[in-house]
Amino acid sequence: MFLKRLELVGFKSFAERLSIDFVKGVTAVVGPNGSGKSNISDAIRWVLGEQSAKNLRGAKMEDVIFSGSDSRAALNMAEITLVLDNEDQHLSIDYSEVSITRRVFRSGDSEYLINRQSCRLKDIVDLFMDSGLGKEAFSIIGQGRVEEILSSKPEERRMIFEEAAGVLKYKNRKQKSEKK
Ligand code: ATP
Ligand code: MG
Repeated sequence: MFLKRLELVGFKSFAERLSIDFVKGVTAVVGPNGSGKSNISDAIRWVLGEQSAKNLRGAKMEDVIFSGSDSRAALNMAEITLVLDNEDQHLSIDYSEVSITRRVFRSGDSEYLINRQSCRLKDIVDLFMDSGLGKEAFSIIGQGRVEEILSSKPEERRMIFEEAAGVLKYKNRKQKSEKK
């Protein structure tokens, strides 16, 4: 599995529709301060289901929507699509290419789609759980995260190993069924 493409519309500083193609191997995003490099990683985090505005460096979820500039009016919707190559069936879904879309409107409404079909956030979380790509996973290591991991409590650190080992899904299911 690898990241093939990221499509952004109205997300943070990206007012224009933008499609970024990734090739296999290492991609580095470079640019001056404030040009939107971190906004790209925020976009990936967000489409994978991040619910905390703070983790996206904003105060409220609406802050992910383009808020306007000197030459452009603010937009009412932000949309991100992440396209993954799933040729190796790493994600348990019967498609060789998987796209995940998240939209949010200023009204607060949001939508999630898997392969352009409307779904729940839970479906996205379940799809990525134990794949190494979930929002809690180790695939995105933000600034300060290394230090956070090193200084975290053993129980917190254990979560990372559980995600890596692929047991988190079963643990979550067990907890849910015990609650019922
Ligand atoms: P650095 O090198 O300093 O880390 P960076 O390239 O990572 O910079 P970002 O933090 O990704 O930069 O981008 C910050 C820019 O995004 C700021 O100019 C900020 O005004 C803009 N921005 C963030 N949210 C919005 C929004 N909702 N609407 C418009 N612009 C936004
Ligand atoms: Mg940055």
